[in-house]
Amino acid sequence: MNTATLTETAPETDAPTDAPTDAQAEAQRQAKRAAFEANKLSKRLHRQVGQAITDFNMIEEGDKVMVCLSGGKDSYSMLDILLNLQKRAPINFKIVAVNLDQKQPGFPAHILPNYLQNLGVDFHIETQDTYSIVKSHIPEGKTMCSLCSRLRRGILYRVARELGCNKLALGHHRDDMVVTLLMNMFFGSRMKGMPPKLVSDNGEFVVIRPLAYVAETDLEKWAAHREFPIIPCSLCGSQENLQRVLTKKMIREWDKQYPGRIDNMFTAMGNITLSHMMDRQLFPFTQIKATGQPDPQGDKAFDEDEEDCATPSPSSGGAAVQTIRLFD
Ligand code: SF4
Repeated sequence: MNTATLTETAPETDAPTDAPTDAQAEAQRQAKRAAFEANKLSKRLHRQVGQAITDFNMIEEGDKVMVCLSGGKDSYSMLDILLNLQKRAPINFKIVAVNLDQKQPGFPAHILPNYLQNLGVDFHIETQDTYSIVKSHIPEGKTMCSLCSRLRRGILYRVARELGCNKLALGHHRDDMVVTLLMNMFFGSRMKGMPPKLVSDNGEFVVIRPLAYVAETDLEKWAAHREFPIIPCSLCGSQENLQRVLTKKMIREWDKQYPGRIDNMFTAMGNITLSHMMDRQLFPFTQIKATGQPDPQGDKAFDEDEEDCATPSPSSGGAAVQTIRLFD
C-alpha cells in the first residue's frame, strides 16, 4: 500500500493535535482572568486589613485575640486574613477562634469544628442554649435580638476571660459602619457610628474590627473564592432588623448610581470638623469671640459647596463630581 497516498487522503480533522479548541481557549482565558482577579482581591483585602490594624494600633505584641466566628462570610474572611497576616507580622500575637453554638434549630454543629480543625488554628466552641432562653422570655412574633445579643455578649466576655484573651475581633466591615451611623442618625438622632476599636462596655477587653476598611462586596467575592462553608444566619427564625436591611439597600443603590459614595461617607467618619457641627459638649460655641485673625477654618458665611463637592476624595475616583449633581 502506498503510505504516501494514505497520508495525503486522510482528513485533516482526524489528525491528533495539541492545539486547544475555541471553547478550551476561552475556558483558559476565563480561568486566567479569574486567577488574576482573585489575586488582586486578595492583595486589596490584606492591604486594607493591615492598614486598619496599623492605623488604629489594633494588635500589639503579646496580644491574644479572640476571633469571634459566626459561620458567616465576614467572620470567615476575618479569620482567614488575620491568620495570613499573623504569619508575616513583625510582632507576636496569638489567635483563638471562638464560636458560640446557641442551639438554634438546624444549626450544623459539625461544620465549624471540622473547618477549624483542618485549618490547624486554636479554637473553642462554646455551647449554650440561649435560643431556648430567648424563646421562653420573648412573646411569639416579637424581636428576640436584643435579649439574644445581651446573652451572647455576656457569654463571649466570660469565654474570652477563661481563654486569657485581651482583645475581641469582630467581623463588622465598612458598610456595617456606615449603616450604623445612618441608623443612629435616622432613628436615634445621634451622630454615632461603629468604631474600629474601643474598650468593651464592661471595661475588660479591647474590641477591634479589623475589616473596618473592607467593602462588603469584596467579602462576598472572597467568601465565594475561598469556598467557606457558610452557615445560614436565619436559623433562629428572627427577622433581621428591617430598617437595617433597608438602609443597607439604600447605600448600595446610591453607590451603584454614584460610585464612591459609600467610601466617601466612610471617609467622612474619620474626617470630622467639630466647629461645623453643633455639639456644644464637643465645641465651645458659647465661648466664641472674634479673633481679628483670618482663619481658613472659619465660617465663610456662604459655604462654597460646589467647590468642596467638585474636589474628589482620594478614594472616590472622581465620584464627588457626580455627587454635586444629585443636589442640583
Ligand atoms: S438574628 Fe437571631 S441569632 Fe441574631 S441576634 Fe437576633 S435572635 Fe439572635
